[in-house]
Amino acid sequence: MALTGIQIFKMLPKTNCGECGVPTCLAFAMNLAAGKAELDSCPYVSDESREKLSEASAPPIRPVAFGYGDTAVKTGGETVLFRHEKTFFNPCPFAGTIKDTDEDIAEKVKTWEKFQWERVGVNLRPELAFVKCESGDAAKFEAAAKAVVENSSFSLILGCEDPEIMAPVVTAVADTKPLIYAVTNANADKMAPIGAENGCPLVVKGVDMDEVMELTTELSEAGYKDLVIDTGARDFAGVFEDQVAVRRAALMAQNRALGFPTIAFASEMGETVGEQVLAGGMLVAKYAGIVVMGDLTAESIFPLLLERLNIYTDPQRPMTVTEGIYEIGGPGVDSPVAITTNFSLTYFIVSGEMEGSRVPSWLLIKDTEGLSVMTAWAAGKFSGDDVGMFVKKIGIEDKINHKALIIPGYAAAIAGDVEEELPGWNIQIGPREAAHLAKFLKEWAPD
Ligand code: SF4
Repeated sequence: MALTGIQIFKMLPKTNCGECGVPTCLAFAMNLAAGKAELDSCPYVSDESREKLSEASAPPIRPVAFGYGDTAVKTGGETVLFRHEKTFFNPCPFAGTIKDTDEDIAEKVKTWEKFQWERVGVNLRPELAFVKCESGDAAKFEAAAKAVVENSSFSLILGCEDPEIMAPVVTAVADTKPLIYAVTNANADKMAPIGAENGCPLVVKGVDMDEVMELTTELSEAGYKDLVIDTGARDFAGVFEDQVAVRRAALMAQNRALGFPTIAFASEMGETVGEQVLAGGMLVAKYAGIVVMGDLTAESIFPLLLERLNIYTDPQRPMTVTEGIYEIGGPGVDSPVAITTNFSLTYFIVSGEMEGSRVPSWLLIKDTEGLSVMTAWAAGKFSGDDVGMFVKKIGIEDKINHKALIIPGYAAAIAGDVEEELPGWNIQIGPREAAHLAKFLKEWAPD
């Protein structure tokens, strides 16, 4: 049973030291009760109180981790219904489906492996293969799982409801920490222990929500904590309703029986690739913890990966890169020096154009709290004084034998102030559009 803010407050030290990031213990207690703070943020909670509070401060939706290497994933751990309230934390991984009766598993996953794109410094890719036992043969199921592991970096969801078949296959690939699909009413006594023996989380599949809650309650009481929910719905409206109902029950009613991430099957929500992509798009937004697609194609998975990137970006914190001096193409003492802001998109566009120019250059990135050039200038975070002081502080003068600085065209108005702050420097106004940067750099001279 979740505790109220006042109940939590009574167990805190009440020194109002502020080390947890809010000024008072009461404010911290309220945040903890609302799932907006972590208990670990207060270093002074006694062991006794910590034990009592751990249940109350546990995320309303349990984070569940599985997989291995670069495709290890964490799903769940969400604390809000709408991303603008705070943020969504753990992007839902995408799985492609492999049947153990497929002839071309190695080729298929090798093709899927190529579906990776770099956007604003993030590698977008599907992470999982849902290996489904269609043959009813443990040897074929194991061979399919191993073919995925040996020919790709995809982590596994193993799909089979027969514990006799599942047990040896999980053991054979246990070091990849697969997700086991699925524990049902019919197999729970034999399937659940396979997860415990191999350290693997379990999907709980019910015919409806009531059955899911019965199963998760029984399993939780038996000590199985890392669970994922399949509500059993497969039609578009039913899946949508269930996803929303699970999220609302976990967050608003603190229903612990539904406080787990979900898995949903876009692969079974449409006949055509287009219908499955539509289903996948809905599931990313509302509120699947794992989205299983059918076969993967570049054109079907790419838009979903982009949607996921957007949905799981913190709306209150622009994506940023670290302030500093960036070397583009191995610059030397005679190379041009340009400056811009630390908004990720600005950095990646500008550095991409600089790289494309093949003119080795220095790029100075100033922290503007993730604002783009025009916004930062308007907000007073990219003023001439600031830029001048930053150039002095960052130490670029030690790396070059000229004193020329290219400022963004959109910040031309600060040129005079920069010159005042940097006497002896030649402040050059670069192009307004990054697309014109290559030509500018090729024709660049320090005077
Ligand atoms: Fe209170 Fe702990 Fe926060 Fe200090 S760190 S204000 S003791 S809750």
